[in-house]
Amino acid sequence: MNNPTTNNVSSKKRNPWNSPQRNITPKKTADAVTPKDNRKKAQKHKERARCVCDNKECDRLMDKLKKLNKGIHAYFNVPEPPKLMPPEEVKGLRNKTRVNRIDQQKKHDCFVTALGTNAKRRVALYLSSKNQGEGIVQREVYSPETKPQFASIHVHPNILSLTTLTNNNPPRRMLPKSIPRALGLKLKRDGFNFEKKDEVPSSPSNDYFALPDYPIEKAQADISVLETEVIAAEKVETIRTIPAPAMTRSGSSVTSNPYSYEMDMLRREIQAKEILLEAKEKELDEREEKCKQDENRIKRMYIERERTLLEKEKDMQARLKEMNTLLDKIGGLSRLTITDRDWHKKNKTSATALFGFTNWKETVCYVHALFGLYPPTEQPKSDDYITQFEWCLAAKIRMNCGMSYRTIGYILGLKAVDSYVGEKVKPWVKKWGEAGEDLSILDITAEFLEATCPQAYKDENLEKICGIPDGKDFKIFTPRKNTLFTRACWSDKVNASAVRCISWCTPMGLSYEHTHLYLARVSEKKLVELWGPRLKKCPQGWAMLSDRGFWDTARYYPNLNRQLTPKFLSGRAQFTVEEVSADRTICKLRYTCEVAFSRVTNTSGLKDVISDDYFIMLDSMNHWGHANINIKKPLMPLN
Ligand SMILES: [Zn+2]
Repeated sequence: MNNPTTNNVSSKKRNPWNSPQRNITPKKTADAVTPKDNRKKAQKHKERARCVCDNKECDRLMDKLKKLNKGIHAYFNVPEPPKLMPPEEVKGLRNKTRVNRIDQQKKHDCFVTALGTNAKRRVALYLSSKNQGEGIVQREVYSPETKPQFASIHVHPNILSLTTLTNNNPPRRMLPKSIPRALGLKLKRDGFNFEKKDEVPSSPSNDYFALPDYPIEKAQADISVLETEVIAAEKVETIRTIPAPAMTRSGSSVTSNPYSYEMDMLRREIQAKEILLEAKEKELDEREEKCKQDENRIKRMYIERERTLLEKEKDMQARLKEMNTLLDKIGGLSRLTITDRDWHKKNKTSATALFGFTNWKETVCYVHALFGLYPPTEQPKSDDYITQFEWCLAAKIRMNCGMSYRTIGYILGLKAVDSYVGEKVKPWVKKWGEAGEDLSILDITAEFLEATCPQAYKDENLEKICGIPDGKDFKIFTPRKNTLFTRACWSDKVNASAVRCISWCTPMGLSYEHTHLYLARVSEKKLVELWGPRLKKCPQGWAMLSDRGFWDTARYYPNLNRQLTPKFLSGRAQFTVEEVSADRTICKLRYTCEVAFSRVTNTSGLKDVISDDYFIMLDSMNHWGHANINIKKPLMPLN
């Protein structure tokens, strides 16, 4: 106790920020004998220390902080720019020194900017006085020579925790040269200014300068929290340390009645605990209140968000509806519509026009029955691959409407990759052809023919007719590359280049046999001869209702089926009455077959002159054309 100051100094050395400085008032220090001049100086310096920001509130807060003595009261020097030097001298410096100069200049700039306008002016004043030494207007509080310092409340507590103590007497708190990038980024997320320009230029890991940009309002809040804590702690401390009354009420000495002394101590202890408890309760209440406020705020936000979302959804629904209406009204042919049931419902003839079936339902049923494919259950998305079902339909469109691959590509939204569409469509055309063959090359029996003989035939005593052969020529463009080919294509029947097919159907109109397509130069009789083995299915004793071209072809049928053909004049001047009547009947009844054939050529690809790019799929289309005869209603009424 005889030398409290020295005592104090030693404790300061250990940890100056937590020392009980409160006990030493400035007066005492003034009264106390100070052994060293520099310490006196330091004290003076401390009293004089004012923050460069020139804010009264800053000074007030620093005073408070000093009183609280929480170890975070400090002033730091504003970093100075590097010494002025002519540029050529700078060039001559060592590399490392040059880099350091850049760092120094940047640090100075960043710090001054962070400290605000007043600080900027003050620092400029200081620097010019330092460089020129005169001509500066003297100000009341600061002399320009005073080294500019800033208060620790300008520094974020997180950065403050990174400060170090020097070995000086008294020790000074030092800001770190830089802070780790991670901390800088975290602070940036918390709303503090750590920008690209605040990075240390020479730092390989892009660390930041320890910027003094903590707002004064936040520092204020922090300090008031500290204050309440300290006051509560002080209260407890006071109650604990009040010396026990020397005498009890009864007048006996404390020592003489240890029991009452103990009681007294306990009571104080309880009082202290109560105060602490009270403080805690208050804190809890506050927290609860804050929680409630937060909850309400979040609830409001949630409700607001929900409302906006609902509005958005409504908006979206409306737009979707609008889109769908647009699609319905003016959308036209597209990938979205060709597989859309509702679209087909609204456009009754679309399925017939596109796929050659009566309606969409029939189309789907056939595709499923023939290929086991189902239509898409949802509207296709933009990034969905084109399904096999769609390719199957695309092939049908190709056969039925005579569209080019490019057009089909556009309908499918494929930006017209011709070869790709062709690759995908061709196999499907082939499949349709195979299915057509299955549906049109059929076995027939005498029983079946008897059961399906139309009344018109019976009326004419033509009950035993098992088939009506007919030849059909499809015109093609004349191939010019090879004359042999050119000649082989010539058809006498249509007087043009063509391919030829013979098909057989029953009187009722069921197509049960047809040849492949051959270049038209081959005669119909030769084709019948070629197809002979297949015609074994025509039952024995049944006749064919043929036209003149098939005269004398009975020998090619394994069962030698008789050919009823219109009579030839063969040199005579005129037909007999019987001959004319019989010929008329044959022609009338053969009409069925001609109509049937119109069903084959119903597909655009086989109409008129067939274009070259259909050539490779002609057989498939012919097969399906014949199937088309059979999947529709019989042409001749049975009775
Ligand atoms: Zn300040």
